[in-house]
Amino acid sequence: MSRNEYITCRELIDFIADYLDGTLPPEHRRDFDRHLTVCPPCVAYLDGYKKTIALGKAALKPSDDPATGQVPEGLLHAIRAARQQAKG
Ligand SMILES: [Zn+2]
Repeated sequence: MSRNEYITCRELIDFIADYLDGTLPPEHRRDFDRHLTVCPPCVAYLDGYKKTIALGKAALKPSDDPATGQVPEGLLHAIRAARQQAKG
């Protein structure tokens, strides 16, 4: 019985967090990349996973982050007004 050349989808999903962290060992990373070349569903899954992480990070950003400049001015006014009402 020869060893399977490709990792399974299940293994790929197990590796995703480490892969995106850059902590996945090179030999596993190679298997991971090779699986992606033959498995479009996993490419789509990885893409969705990345977007989820990006959204999560954006939501966790502290309010004094420079990116706050991208928040619409109207929304900032609404937040300040809500805080003042909460204090009063
Ligand atoms: Zn797959």
